Amino acid sequence: MDNKRIEELAKNPRFITGIYNYCDRWCERCVFTSRCMNYALSEVESSDPETRDINNKAFWDKLGEILSSTLEMVKEKAKEMGIDLDAIDYEKIANEEEQVHRMAEKQPYSIAAMEYIGKVDDWFKSNKEQLEAKGDELVSQSQACISDTNPEDDAVKINDCLEVIRWYEHQIYVKLCRAATGLICTNPNDTEFSIDDANGSAKVAIIGIERSIAAWAGLLPHFPEQEGSILGLLVILKRLQAQVESAFPNARSFQRPGFDTEKPK
Ligand code: SF4
Repeated sequence: MDNKRIEELAKNPRFITGIYNYCDRWCERCVFTSRCMNYALSEVESSDPETRDINNKAFWDKLGEILSSTLEMVKEKAKEMGIDLDAIDYEKIANEEEQVHRMAEKQPYSIAAMEYIGKVDDWFKSNKEQLEAKGDELVSQSQACISDTNPEDDAVKINDCLEVIRWYEHQIYVKLCRAATGLICTNPNDTEFSIDDANGSAKVAIIGIERSIAAWAGLLPHFPEQEGSILGLLVILKRLQAQVESAFPNARSFQRPGFDTEKPK
């Protein structure tokens, strides 16, 4: 897609400006796909089925095309803003960013979120057989048509919970690192954007934590023998939530474009 087409698309009033900056990127479950320019772009760019295949040359060619047109737009914008891109010391910036990134990773909530990832991976590894056995059990129940059970419903609920847990498992950490970066980078002369962005990222992390808590709680009745390990994970998540709320006391009041400002149509 050329720059002109992207610019035209950006002017469409149906799109909510910046909605994709503070979403969870779960487009399949998003209620604002019709109002998201990012989604519209990805749909147009992926209309050729071949471009969906990561192993297909067409996919990488398409990605290369997007990169070229984006770089063109960046150059034009920099010129407009009077910025000489060739005069930028990229190595210095990369070193500074690396330092900030290391600091972000060392924040207590980042460390806790990384620990959560490890615990979740361990849980899935050590319960692989139980999860498969539960699937077999539900299939047998479904085939036996036993009254007063609803195995299909149970299967959907369990699958939903597992998907939610997996979706947010890494995202919580990524969003918290970004939020920490926003705090660390805060320039006293231009604080608004970084603090705002930090609060927005922290809010997305909090939402991910809350949804993960609900998903683990949803698994509990189906895996009573795993009560101890699931409760342990719930404790980790609750503690992480408290850490994030304390580090970002204004995160909850951050208004995410679209999600907190509009009703889905
Ligand atoms: S706002 Fe919704 S559709 Fe757009 S990128 Fe985020 S999750 Fe996907």
